[in-house]
Amino acid sequence: MASNKFELHESRLATTGEHGERVYIHPEDVKGVWRNRRTVFYWFLIFLYMVLPWINIGGKQSILLDIPGREFTFFGNTFLAHNAPLLIFVFLGFVFTIGFITSIWGRVWCGWACPQTVFIDTIYRKIESFIEGNARQRQKLSAAPMSFEKLWKKSIKWVLFLIVSLHITHSFLGYFVGARKLFWITMGPPTEHMTLFIFMCLITLLFLLDFGWFREQFCIIACPYGRIQSVMMDEHSKAIIYDEKRGEPRRQPGMKKDEHGACINCYACVKACPTGIDIRRGVQLECIACTNCIDACDEIMDHVGSPRGLIRYDTQSNLEGKPTKYLRPRNLIYLAAMIGIFVTFIFSLKLSQEFRATLVRGSNTTFSEAVKSDGSIEVVNHYKVNMENESLTNYNISLRFKDKSLEDKITIVMPRNPVTVDKAYFKTNVFFKFEPSVLTNGSKSIIIEFFDTNSNNVVLEKEVKLAGPLK
Ligand code: SF4
Ligand code: SF4
Repeated sequence: MASNKFELHESRLATTGEHGERVYIHPEDVKGVWRNRRTVFYWFLIFLYMVLPWINIGGKQSILLDIPGREFTFFGNTFLAHNAPLLIFVFLGFVFTIGFITSIWGRVWCGWACPQTVFIDTIYRKIESFIEGNARQRQKLSAAPMSFEKLWKKSIKWVLFLIVSLHITHSFLGYFVGARKLFWITMGPPTEHMTLFIFMCLITLLFLLDFGWFREQFCIIACPYGRIQSVMMDEHSKAIIYDEKRGEPRRQPGMKKDEHGACINCYACVKACPTGIDIRRGVQLECIACTNCIDACDEIMDHVGSPRGLIRYDTQSNLEGKPTKYLRPRNLIYLAAMIGIFVTFIFSLKLSQEFRATLVRGSNTTFSEAVKSDGSIEVVNHYKVNMENESLTNYNISLRFKDKSLEDKITIVMPRNPVTVDKAYFKTNVFFKFEPSVLTNGSKSIIIEFFDTNSNNVVLEKEVKLAGPLK
């Protein structure tokens, strides 16, 4: 058994008790440069998260993941279900970007941008400190038997947690349902959108339990990125590191000032750690790179008149006096894959035109013939036109000939002309009627323009082969 409760057990997690039970961590608040930077950045991210669903770009919500409508919009670019392969590029690009960033800056995602860290640190833990006091008071309250004070403090805390969780959930759903639409839904009775209401309750419960109670356990036990990050890092990657050469031997009771290293064994770094680890034992899987221990230790160093940076952002090779290689095969591979994927993505995006149309013959026979009232023969070619509009513009599409001299010779007949193509797909029939003399040896290639009657702009050109009887 360790004599100091902050001297952690060698073979046990700080968050697990002797009998495997959960040990709830109450990290000490820290002040310092990194704390200030993170606070600003976290609030910026929260602001972005809350505000983005309310921003429209080109008439569409900036990010909208409409799963039932199979339509996904990202900053003015709309992807439909059949664009799913393009989304794979986005996913792979994200994976390799994270790989590249991790190989250089370590777990910067966990400490600086993961919603788990951002919401717990900025909102939930702040509410907790506001109601229950500092880390020591919180620990005391948790360990105390139930009393009126404990009951009201815990109750108010959980009610506030619930309000925040509801707010986070509604912002989250705004990305899927549409922020404005969701606002009006919330104005009506839940019975009108029962499925959505149940879904909202479940997500709120999930956020409430995760951010309010499960917390660091998610990073330690459940997060897949936490598991694989060690594969992406090596001795040249930045990490939160304790300078063992400078710190050891750490101060022990009875040691004189010149007998120990810079570490005075005050455990301030351990007390401030939200995952409860002792960074002096080296880089660990549980470290989310939150920088709390840097600030905690820097404050102690200031206090004892030692230079700051006993715990700092650094690389293992620097610490061993070897140069850090930022460009090495590992991150060059990540970088090459990342660039390759994004270039392919942009190229594919350009290739996928915003407005597409396909013309296929609409009947088994390539043409039919009809006798007009004046006794002359008229040839009819029937085509089916499938139009796909992925742009943000609603088009009123009509067809005409590129070669204007054909207008007197060939008639285009459509059931509706122009057709409004405001949805993803639109199908229509088109008939080309002409005299057999228009053809040469029974066929003729013509260029059809799909033009928007609103703007008179040509949005697409297609080649059509007309067929008729051989003269
Ligand atoms: S805060 Fe600094 S001095 Fe105190 S125990 Fe941690 S490393 Fe040592
Ligand atoms: S060891 Fe330091 S950086 Fe890592 S989680 Fe604990 S306090 Fe944060």
